[in-house]
Amino acid sequence: MMYLDNGATSFHKPPGVYRAVSQAMLRCGNPGRGGYQAAMNAAETVYGCREAASGLFGCQPEQVVFTSNCTHGLNIAIRTLVKGGENVVVSGFEHNAVTRPLHALKANVRVAGRKLFDWDDTLTQFEKALRGGADAAVFTHVSNVFGYILPVEEMAALCRYYRVPFVIDAAQSAGTLPVNLEALGADFIAMPGHKGLLGPQGTGILLCGREPDPLICGGTGSASAQQDMPDFLPDRAEAGTLNVPGIAGLGEGLRYLRRVGIKNIFKREHRAAMACVQALERMEFRVFSGPHQAATVSFLPNTDCEEAAQLLAKQGIAVRAGLHCAPLAHGSAGTLDTGTVRVSFGHDASIQQVEAFCRAAAIL
Ligand code: PLP
Repeated sequence: MMYLDNGATSFHKPPGVYRAVSQAMLRCGNPGRGGYQAAMNAAETVYGCREAASGLFGCQPEQVVFTSNCTHGLNIAIRTLVKGGENVVVSGFEHNAVTRPLHALKANVRVAGRKLFDWDDTLTQFEKALRGGADAAVFTHVSNVFGYILPVEEMAALCRYYRVPFVIDAAQSAGTLPVNLEALGADFIAMPGHKGLLGPQGTGILLCGREPDPLICGGTGSASAQQDMPDFLPDRAEAGTLNVPGIAGLGEGLRYLRRVGIKNIFKREHRAAMACVQALERMEFRVFSGPHQAATVSFLPNTDCEEAAQLLAKQGIAVRAGLHCAPLAHGSAGTLDTGTVRVSFGHDASIQQVEAFCRAAAIL
């Protein structure tokens, strides 16, 4: 199978990730719950991953909270800043992982900036919305549908200027673009462990620039005599037993990224994505492409999108079709009725992958 659905999850992980998961299952007990060897092995494994993440994302190890996916982290972050009915500014490219929690909280959501690949529009509309009065802002770094890289540094600077607390959804950027909690001054940055960070499914990270309100309460192995959740990080947001094998794999994914360099990974992915855009344009499909594009390409085939993805799957090519859990982004691009076919490259991107994909796409 030629796997081109890295926007959903990375599938071919570095070999060290698989080894770390199975080693953790053989060697690790419950971290922070005992002084015997297996518990210590677990504690070391978890702390090693926290340290690797803090090195990559510009924060202290305690500011790294482990979650079960990006959605989990976004829910903690959003429910800390939004209690119900607040004015919240979002970009026009958000995933349901952002919009559904806001909807559930009956937030008054203002969508700012809906033009694809247009930093002027994104920034002008975003500033206008903040100036109009906002209690919080939540925005994605990269659109999971179109690969549009939003100007998050400038958006973060605007939030700081207007003193609006903000959350960044780094689901599609962590592992391929620089993400730095301290430099951005974000209240929270949420990311999955299983996409660009190359860890297993069931892992995620929430970087905390402020104390979060716990989403769930329970045992932490610390401050056990008190009934309130601990008031210190990361324990405050990590109730219950952690996914130690997953975190072990994630730690290996992070170390791989540091060795290879995320700049090099971005270069490789971007080269493949741009070659894919050119090839699809030569085939006269409608391709969504522009400046500030990451490694994801959406296009409209001549057939129904779901059918096209099935035809590709029959030829061994794995891509995703439909709305990609992001109706807001499709609404912005005018593709809500059709959806798109999405090709998303990963750390192993190559021109051979593009060529194989294009041979298969020629029949669409
Ligand atoms: N945000 C964006 C932009 C995404 O692309 C995704 C997943 O595709 C999520 C959030 C949710 O991530 P997870 O599946 O890890 O909860």
